[in-house]
Amino acid sequence: MLPNDADYLRGSCLCGGISYRMQKPARYACHCYCTMCRKQHGAAAGSYAVLPSANVVFERGAELVTEYASSEQGRRGFCRVCGSTLFWRSTQTPQTIAITLGTLDQAYDGPVEQELHTDTKPAWLPLRSP
Ligand SMILES: [Zn+2]
Ligand SMILES: [Zn+2]
Repeated sequence: MLPNDADYLRGSCLCGGISYRMQKPARYACHCYCTMCRKQHGAAAGSYAVLPSANVVFERGAELVTEYASSEQGRRGFCRVCGSTLFWRSTQTPQTIAITLGTLDQAYDGPVEQELHTDTKPAWLPLRSP
């Protein structure tokens, strides 16, 4: 049976080698400012939708997905061709996955309710009035 598109958001990596779909809704979404997310994303934060791993299907390029164990607690999935950051997953709870909002090809339409590790949120992130 073909999936009903209204139930999913689709995403892909920068080179297009990998594409996936995630079933809506996510449990929650968050911005994480921890130094590991910042470094892996090369950005102010990692932004994620958190949902059951079973609700994410790699439709193309699953063989390109590479995982890096950034700590004993977590693994980070990325495209081995273009380096796009695709997900974070706890080694203790692999049945849950955090998909990067930035790789979605469709607008994430849920709320982003949480900010994590705000103690390392960079001071240069908010736009400042001159
Ligand atoms: Zn790629
Ligand atoms: Zn983080």
